[in-house]
Amino acid sequence: TWSAVPAGPPDPILGVTEAFKADKDPRKINLGVGAYRDENGKPYVLPSVLKAEEIITASKADKEYLPITGLADFTKLAAKLAYGADSAPLQEGRISSTQSISGTGALRIGGAFLARHYPHSKTIFLPVPSWGNHTPVFRDSGLEVKGYRYFDKKTVGLDFAGLKEDLRNAPEKSIVLLHACAHNPTGVDPTPEQWAEISDICKERGLFPFFDMAYQGFASGNTARDAFALRHFVKEGHQVALAQSFAKNMGLYGERVGLFSLTTSSPEEKARVDSQVKIIVRPMYSNPPIHGARIAGTILGSPELYTQWESEVAGMANRIISMRDKLYDTLTHDLKTPGEWRHIKSQIGMFSFTGLTPPQTKALAEKAHIYMTGDGRISMAGLNGGNIVYFAEGVNAAVRG
Ligand code: PMP
Repeated sequence: TWSAVPAGPPDPILGVTEAFKADKDPRKINLGVGAYRDENGKPYVLPSVLKAEEIITASKADKEYLPITGLADFTKLAAKLAYGADSAPLQEGRISSTQSISGTGALRIGGAFLARHYPHSKTIFLPVPSWGNHTPVFRDSGLEVKGYRYFDKKTVGLDFAGLKEDLRNAPEKSIVLLHACAHNPTGVDPTPEQWAEISDICKERGLFPFFDMAYQGFASGNTARDAFALRHFVKEGHQVALAQSFAKNMGLYGERVGLFSLTTSSPEEKARVDSQVKIIVRPMYSNPPIHGARIAGTILGSPELYTQWESEVAGMANRIISMRDKLYDTLTHDLKTPGEWRHIKSQIGMFSFTGLTPPQTKALAEKAHIYMTGDGRISMAGLNGGNIVYFAEGVNAAVRG
């Protein structure tokens, strides 16, 4: 029956992990994976998450189905975290939201909703490059995917002129995907002033902004600061779609906790949108999983746990920032590695686009047992006090050839 099914290509990031696992050298480092690692290179379960789980266990909560749109005690608080307590659409009860299978699920629900109900366009513009799963998610949702310039290889920074030109030339009312903060894979974000200009262009062209916020709090260590772009757009009167993930900022990766939301113009319109979101979710997975949403809801709903969680997110963000500083100093001052490495420090979030070329990344894997994606992206979280000098020495050798 399946004799005509062709073998598909392997996932590029999971391929890195497989090569890493097969390597027996004790010095090996995996910088491909997009999950936080602590100072000892180990996965990190947040203490606030452990406390929330104790509270949930003690409550002897049942395991009944959630409603189609998820756990209300979680969804309300997740929307508040993103939009801010003083957000007009939140206060006026006109945000439609539904719990999702983490950020990916939120993007997929959003893609499907826009493909079915957005009346003006079926085209979504993604930054080039973008997270590798964006194209398949939106294509499989029924949208046509196009790109707008984002990254400038020469400066290892934002191609702001190219970005503006491409958005100005996009057909009116197209959908545009924006990484709310900590752009993956480049680690390059617009400044607040540049965001304000992007908002103006979206207004001029009537572009519909779809924010992907997978790293709130993880970029700067401050959840409000990381929500600046989203909140600015909403304040400027844009209607937006938003995909949120609690994988990184609460370390709830495998629990699959997320939220899809849309701002609407009235509570009455919100109710109609809600009904259509349910019609999309019900035949896909009926209703979302309960445990992770309870954890996130418990943390967001308890002033004490919330404060603790905020400091734990800041701890993760700051450890990454300290690794950026250390890597920059080691390359530039200690090893005098040829090239300009300032972008290591100016980039933000979990990832850094190092500027290393495919042959250099290959040499790092073969000679130094250091693994990363072929585009030179590294997860800063994979670096720690125990391996960062070894890593810098490997980069230095690869660059010198
Ligand atoms: N968007 C971006 C930009 C991401 O980097 C990720 C995680 N790698 C996601 C969405 C979704 O991840 P998840 O489904 O695990 O929340």
